Amino acid sequence: MPSPYSHILVTGGAGFIGSHVARHLVGQGASVTVVDDLSNGFAANVPPGAGFLQADLTREDAMDRLAAVPFDAVLHLAAQSSGDASFDDPLADMRSHIHATLLLLRLCRDKGVRRFLYASSSTIYGAAPKLPVDETCPPAPKTFYAAGKIGAEAYVNLFAGLGLDTTILRMPNVYGPGQNLENKNQGMVSIYLAYLLEGQPILVKGPRERFRDFIHVADVVRGWTEALASPAAHGKTYNLGSGVSATVGEVVDLLRQAYGRPDHPVSWAGGTRGDQTGMVFDTARIRQDLRLPPCLSLKDGIADMVAQEKRRLSLD
Ligand code: NAD
Repeated sequence: MPSPYSHILVTGGAGFIGSHVARHLVGQGASVTVVDDLSNGFAANVPPGAGFLQADLTREDAMDRLAAVPFDAVLHLAAQSSGDASFDDPLADMRSHIHATLLLLRLCRDKGVRRFLYASSSTIYGAAPKLPVDETCPPAPKTFYAAGKIGAEAYVNLFAGLGLDTTILRMPNVYGPGQNLENKNQGMVSIYLAYLLEGQPILVKGPRERFRDFIHVADVVRGWTEALASPAAHGKTYNLGSGVSATVGEVVDLLRQAYGRPDHPVSWAGGTRGDQTGMVFDTARIRQDLRLPPCLSLKDGIADMVAQEKRRLSLD
């Protein structure tokens, strides 16, 4: 569905997911402005045709600059994006999730912007007592990152009560071309692929039996753009995942096969701080409201990612 909004602000649009979403919207003919501080993104990721403002959204002066930018919808994806790294500086992590979100929400109120979508995470559920987990499961964060996400969600919901048309999209493990292969703190599939590309043993932190809901970024883009355009999504919180679980061991095997090195060595190490044992989404709510088609299978999605990264690095 094409976007009913004429000018869309994509925060974190120089990062992995935000740049894919921004590119899709530009392709649909929307005016897009990306705002990003480039702490984990790249200016080269900002799609041609989009405006770009380099700014740190935790700062009030960023809001002064954004006040001069015309937009009628916000897709808020900018944030420190690693659960493990959130233990290094919890206060900075809190500012990145909660403070920046509150500043943006206040700016929307002051500018009369009506639509706001927020990037949340499956990590807010912690060790969910029942799987697949649906949106009614109470949050139980195990990382500062997840606590920041649920805190920011609370502010988004508070502004929904004040009249903003909000949608919260909780995402599990998103993977696909364009993930930051230099950041070995964030993104399971991208981390393992980075070791393969470097010719190093794949370092896996945590047991191979852990399982996750993996979703290809193309399916995430469809979820975000359909949610943006759909009045049915106003005021809703959604699990935007594939609804299918795969173990870490399966992911490593699929990557090695897609890369053509089924026997590439793997080094199994201890887990990361606050990591979950298992997670898979119940996605009934979003599928029903937005009529999303089934997601790409993990096998096809990983094959696509490996092929695109090899092409990008001229390895084919
Ligand atoms: P990413 O790190 O590639 O993108 C985040 C972008 O935000 C980066 O470009 C970074 O430079 C920018 N940024 C960070 N702090 C900022 C600040 N203070 N001001 C301005 N820009 C800032 O991460 P991603 O994988 O694209 O994730 C996008 C969003 O989705 C994040 O909020 C992340 O927490 C959330 N999320 C991601 C996943 C996943 O699997 N990738 C899963 C659940 C939720």
